[in-house]
Amino acid sequence: MKTDVVIAGQGLAGSLLAWELLRYGIEFRVFDPGDGRSASKAAGGLYYPLAARKLKEVELSAQQLPLMYNTFREIEKIIGKQFLFERPSLKLIRDDELEKWAKAQQNDLAHLISDIIPGIQLKGVVPGYHGVVISASGFVDVPGFISATRDWLVHHGLLVSEKVSGDNIQDSGKHLIINGSHQAGKLVFCEGPAAAVNPLLASGTIRMNKGELIEIEAPGLQEDYILRKEIFVLPTGNCRFRAGATYSHEFHDYEPTEAGLRELTSKLDQIIDTPYKITGHWAGLRPTTRNRLPVYGPLPGNSRVFLLNGLGSRGVIQGPWYANKMVKYLTNIPE
Ligand SMILES: Cc1cc2nc3c(=O)[nH]c(=O)nc-3n(C[C@H](O)[C@H](O)[C@H](O)COP(=O)(O)OP(=O)(O)OC[C@H]3O[C@@H](n4cnc5c(N)ncnc54)[C@H](O)[C@@H]3O)c2cc1C
Repeated sequence: MKTDVVIAGQGLAGSLLAWELLRYGIEFRVFDPGDGRSASKAAGGLYYPLAARKLKEVELSAQQLPLMYNTFREIEKIIGKQFLFERPSLKLIRDDELEKWAKAQQNDLAHLISDIIPGIQLKGVVPGYHGVVISASGFVDVPGFISATRDWLVHHGLLVSEKVSGDNIQDSGKHLIINGSHQAGKLVFCEGPAAAVNPLLASGTIRMNKGELIEIEAPGLQEDYILRKEIFVLPTGNCRFRAGATYSHEFHDYEPTEAGLRELTSKLDQIIDTPYKITGHWAGLRPTTRNRLPVYGPLPGNSRVFLLNGLGSRGVIQGPWYANKMVKYLTNIPE
């Protein structure tokens, strides 16, 4: 096999990079055995333009959101399946927070807060909250997107079901030889949390943050809004909801825990007061960095091997943006 770019890893980062290379007409192959755990397979998939704990718009979200919509809508057209679903979020607030949200609606966040509903009453939601409606929000079915992208790549002969071995890459001077036999002009590692054991990366470049989610069935709960308080409750249809997520730096395995379950159900019980059944509970590792910003660019001292990683807890909104930056970097297109 000879190609311009090899992408190592087909999670959200590698998949979005592949679609972006296709858009720019650059030849590529994606390597991923496809049988392992990944952040993308565990993701809640939400996008939301406000910071989780501060009353503030997330940096760059005004630029990243339109690119995210365009990217997924283009891919949906090619594949013929919907992945991105727009849903307003309803931030539940108490009396003492009302004034600052009302001020924000008049000022900096006027473009994001479409309504504030005092004393909101919603089916299955604990009474006594006020509701702040944020319209620019929704979710991407990330596991569905990854699986459909894989099928598309296989169908077009662009997927190699192998892991790229970090210690089996030679540079001939003209191109790279990957896994002993595949020729490529450039290689981009999009390994997600697995980058932590890549021998070519300095230790600590990519860190991990464990997250847990549950799925519940709650026939008595409203399905119009993504509820947000200390957790999100995302309606996915047919009385099913995803609720999450936890954040922990201390555990580096993919197993859901009793402590995670307790944390999620106790936060859930503060906002919903209708019976529910837990139908799923899973965990994943978010790839992150020391300064929480994604990383893209060449590995130090190597002009042919690159990295795109660290999408953290905002892979959906940041992924298209950094995949685009990566392609511009690979092709020397000025920003
Ligand atoms: C519990 C949880 C909830 C989340 N919720 C949200 C959310 O609501 N909204 C949001 O925007 N983001 C969310 N995220 C974050 C988002 O999932 C991640 O930012 C994103 O999925 C990271 O994608 P990635 O491609 O970098 O890594 P991954 O998805 O882990 O993909 C890496 C891929 O590379 C493959 N691979 C690894 N090494 C090699 C190699 N050497 N050769 C070939 N293949 C290799 C792996 O098999 C894997 O398929 C969540 C994450 C978790 C864990």
